[in-house]
Amino acid sequence: MKIKAPVEKNKIYTVKIEDLTYQGMGVAKIEHFPIFIADSIPGEKIESKITKVQKNFAFGRVEKVLEESPDRVAGNGAAYTQTGIAPLQHLTYDAQLKFKQNQINNLLKKSHLEKIEVADTIGMEDPTGYRNKAQIPVRKIKGQLETGFFKRNSHDLVPIEDFYIQDPIIDQVIVKVRDILREYRVEPYDEINHKGIIRNIMVRRGRRSGQVMVVLITRTKDVPHLDEITAAITQIDGVVSVIQNINYKQTNVIMGEEDRVLAGESVIHDELLGQDFIISAHSFYQVNPLQTEKLYQLAIEKAGLTGNETVLDVYSGIGTISLAMAQAAKKVYGVEIVKEAVQDAKINAFQNNATNTEFVVGKAEDQMQTWQADGLKPDVVVVDPPRKGLDQSVIDATVAMQPTRVVYVSCNPATLVRDIERFGEQGYDVNQPIVPVDQFPQTPHVESVTVLERKD
Ligand code: SAH
Repeated sequence: MKIKAPVEKNKIYTVKIEDLTYQGMGVAKIEHFPIFIADSIPGEKIESKITKVQKNFAFGRVEKVLEESPDRVAGNGAAYTQTGIAPLQHLTYDAQLKFKQNQINNLLKKSHLEKIEVADTIGMEDPTGYRNKAQIPVRKIKGQLETGFFKRNSHDLVPIEDFYIQDPIIDQVIVKVRDILREYRVEPYDEINHKGIIRNIMVRRGRRSGQVMVVLITRTKDVPHLDEITAAITQIDGVVSVIQNINYKQTNVIMGEEDRVLAGESVIHDELLGQDFIISAHSFYQVNPLQTEKLYQLAIEKAGLTGNETVLDVYSGIGTISLAMAQAAKKVYGVEIVKEAVQDAKINAFQNNATNTEFVVGKAEDQMQTWQADGLKPDVVVVDPPRKGLDQSVIDATVAMQPTRVVYVSCNPATLVRDIERFGEQGYDVNQPIVPVDQFPQTPHVESVTVLERKD
């Protein structure tokens, strides 16, 4: 029997928003059939035009807000919600912070872990213009080279100059690079035919240092007028590094494997918690430096260091957490899969006189077992995994080494809660509130710090 959806495409329905998904979309129901509507808020009554009907749910658009939520603020216009740059921009910042705290609470409840408390989300004073890195697609629109952002779930470029959540100086650099590329008539990438030259522009800026890196991601190694283009980019204020990254493949992965430094350095510097860090193009670096300092400070505090501890920093990137902890510990070991990041970490340790650190290139899954087999006895294990969370083998090796504490820095509450359950099965409990720290204002991403303690 085929169940017919109770809504039809392009028709308008009056609905009440009941919930907000983890992606920040409002949820309304007609005869129990969920409709996901961007830019709507629980409690609101709206007229929604159905844009897509699937088997078990539909998508709609806000046509008119009939009853407005007190949590609504005037947004910045359609481009930001269309592109998913700032999907929560229609929520007051307080409501965003609550939304993030609730995300973790709801997931804990689903796993019957409601005993665990979640603290108020630590927010920013000014929750805009914070991102220190941009990866901007370059495409041709009406014969002209444009920079902007893709519409959600598509590769249609919407030209944008003010990215709202990015360091405004980065926005200015992108516009200047765009104009230089226009001047030299560089052909934008055409992904359907896999033709054209310039695919993306990556810009990173050290918040404290003011140093700017520009990476031109190209489909071909040869770029006409590359010397003139490079010379013009080096004239932009703050630019200390111009790099070409070549991505020959027809793929959604932004960067290719081949790099060459066109001008200046291969890295930029930035400062975090009073220490100086170098960052290369392929290394991960937290995108919100102000909040990162709060996040790390919290992690250090939660690690309860006295100066005698051995610490493992698993997923260590360029060693930022390791070096912050090294000042208060006896020894810190880091493991990280990207070799450029580990090279950065070693130089960072050297230039900050952190002689009590050691960094290894490897997969956490393998290296944790190696450390365990070597008889390493860490007091504290810090983990800061990507969105997919911890592999069971990492949890098993951690537990086998019997640290007093595990400090879990998470960027995905779903895998965090799953991993809390797995640690719980092996004798590690959460006894203090989980603390969300807002690293990504205006977006639904939730970052948090959790401490797991060994039951004695
Ligand atoms: N702690 C660092 C980096 C956190 S991001 C910081 O705060 O800056 C997560 C890091 O894990 C990235 O640098 C990524 O390259 C690395 N990574 C991803 N998968 C990994 C794996 N299986 N083993 C080790 N490192 C991994």
